Amino acid sequence: MKENEKTIARPEADAVVLFSGGLDSILAAKLLEEQGLRVRCLHFYSPFFGDPGAIGYWQRTYRLEIEAIDVGEDFCDLLRRRPEHQFGKVLNPCMDCKILLLRHARRHMERLGARVIATGEVLGQRPMSQRRDALNVIRRDAGVEDVLLRPLSALHLPPIPAEEEGFVDRSRLLGISGRGRKDQLALAEKFRLTRIPTPGGGCRLTEKENARRYWPVLRDMPHPVAADFHLANLGRQFWLERHGRRFWLSMGRNVRDNEALAAALRDGDARVGLAGLPGPVAVARCGASWPADVLADAAALTASYAGKATAAAQRGETVFGRAQTPDGREIWRGPIEPSRDTGWQEPLWEPAREEIREEQRLRIQALEQARLARKEARRKMAADNGEPATADAEPLQSPSENV
Ligand code: SF4
Repeated sequence: MKENEKTIARPEADAVVLFSGGLDSILAAKLLEEQGLRVRCLHFYSPFFGDPGAIGYWQRTYRLEIEAIDVGEDFCDLLRRRPEHQFGKVLNPCMDCKILLLRHARRHMERLGARVIATGEVLGQRPMSQRRDALNVIRRDAGVEDVLLRPLSALHLPPIPAEEEGFVDRSRLLGISGRGRKDQLALAEKFRLTRIPTPGGGCRLTEKENARRYWPVLRDMPHPVAADFHLANLGRQFWLERHGRRFWLSMGRNVRDNEALAAALRDGDARVGLAGLPGPVAVARCGASWPADVLADAAALTASYAGKATAAAQRGETVFGRAQTPDGREIWRGPIEPSRDTGWQEPLWEPAREEIREEQRLRIQALEQARLARKEARRKMAADNGEPATADAEPLQSPSENV
């Protein structure tokens, strides 16, 4: 017997459910379980969303089987290439994100021998990615039209083959739509869920405070990966423009940040700090190759957040900064004056937003120009062959939409 026949003969689950930890995804899983289907929840996580550490809690609290799946690198690839359907109001590429997650879900569905991918999406709940036309684009581009089920809104949507064949009992699915939560709360009561997750939140890409941290990484790092965005989540973020390039420093605000930053050091980084005095942990990404003047100013900035260093400088004592490789080898040491006026700046959201808008505008313009050029080439070819011009078959680029 071939491997895939074995999988089909002995499926490990009937349905996989995209599980965010929010109420809607819990209810989607419960609705399917209620009709006797074996459900495996998939919890996707990345530097921007997800909480794999909560899986145990969710399993105990909601009595669901949940698997954590890291999509961080694939998500970074999406961001590096820029989303095909544009960013939403902040740095959230919701449609592309859903397409990516559904493609992953399809692979896991097939691995488990399941026949259905279910989500907790509710028609009309969010303007962008849960509108009917957006849902259709997502289904099509993710290649899940034949298996994607939205149990909470199924009665507003055409049946999928699993419903038509009776594998899923459509009469036990729901027709919820809109932004209200009344129906979901009633359902939670019916399923005796004692702990109701709070709505919204959960994705850092929708929050300006986080997006301002991510944008310089996306703009200035040559090939940003998940570890870079994990670093951007930590402590204070500073950027310096000098010598025709930009330098990135992350600095701890407390013991927890400092521990996380020390753990985030990678080959090629430098740990910037003070020689012989306590101070915050500061990670210079790719800092092993920074010029001495940049390391000196990074150390001066770090010292300005260290009480003992500033007090020593005020007493007229010389304070020394230093930079070390992750394994502790010193690569620079020199006298510094604690100072926040060294050119290092914390990234702000407003300028980032303008840059993102301009970048999106140029990208849409370039796509439109390419589309028109292809149309013109087709027209010319038809004219050369003596054929009548055909209608423009290419769809327009989908407009920028907001969450
Ligand atoms: S808010 Fe958008 S980008 Fe963030 S996880 Fe949800 S769909 Fe993905």
